[in-house]
Amino acid sequence: MNYKDILEKVFHDTKGLTNKGKIATYIPELANVNPTMFGVHMTNLTGEGYGMGNNLVKFSIQSIAKVFSLTLAYRILGEEIWKRVDVEPSGTKFDSLLLLEINNGIPRNPFINSGAIVICDILVSHLGNARKEFLAFVRDLSNLPNLSYSDKIADSEKANGYRNVALCNFIKSLGNIKNDPTEVLDFYFDMCSLEMNCEQLSYAFTYLANGGLKISDSSEVITKPQSKRINALMLTCGFYDESGEFAFKVGLPGKSGVGGGIVALYPHSYTIAVWSPPLNPNGNSFLGMKFLEEFTTHSDFTIF
Ligand code: GLU
Repeated sequence: MNYKDILEKVFHDTKGLTNKGKIATYIPELANVNPTMFGVHMTNLTGEGYGMGNNLVKFSIQSIAKVFSLTLAYRILGEEIWKRVDVEPSGTKFDSLLLLEINNGIPRNPFINSGAIVICDILVSHLGNARKEFLAFVRDLSNLPNLSYSDKIADSEKANGYRNVALCNFIKSLGNIKNDPTEVLDFYFDMCSLEMNCEQLSYAFTYLANGGLKISDSSEVITKPQSKRINALMLTCGFYDESGEFAFKVGLPGKSGVGGGIVALYPHSYTIAVWSPPLNPNGNSFLGMKFLEEFTTHSDFTIF
């Protein structure tokens, strides 16, 4: 079977499953999504793509944006970045404060909220206008000149993001936030509010399957060793407290978000984005996880 036949078969099989997930409601605006949405899109390194279902409907990418912010901060700071954030799975919830005290305000990795907030602080320090320059960076990566933040989603999270406010202030008290916490958090909430569809997201991630180079013109986004490290972090820390299980069941580096999106990739081969809003108890898309497990288990599209 070719990849299109496999994608279609697995998509239809997965669609037939009972969705036991639940939509995230702690950001009120996210609760307004249609729970039956289900889309998949795969892009190869020549830019050819294939998708189905609701692959062209935009959704809130949330934590998936943390891969873009890490990429930009890593490009700016180089290896110095690891003085501010560690590279270990956390073994705790994505918004946990637990380990920060023990680790002197150094978050366990850049994909949990504390780590992503420190990355935002780095970008606020090094960019004249982090909000504007980050957006320009993602617009360029995704070839979407009109991509913008969703004020509705960002405002909804700003009004309710008490844990993130606590995280940022706590890290500030431990010395690892250099800017005004309100400015850092405003940028963090904007960053998480980006909306993209599966086709756009799978395309935007192709640089990480392509050794750090954009597939459109081979220009360097990040170096090859940097791309290797971001992939390693996605494999070990990309799925909250279910990262080991994702590696075990799916076997690809990737990143998920509480909007129900997942992006995964096979270096030198392809990227794939899946979206279904209801989440499993670990905060990952219930159907998205099932889809990717079936897809890599019954095909050669896996690194292991
Ligand atoms: N903006 C969300 C939060 O900070 C992102 C969570 C996620 O997608 O993991 O809670």
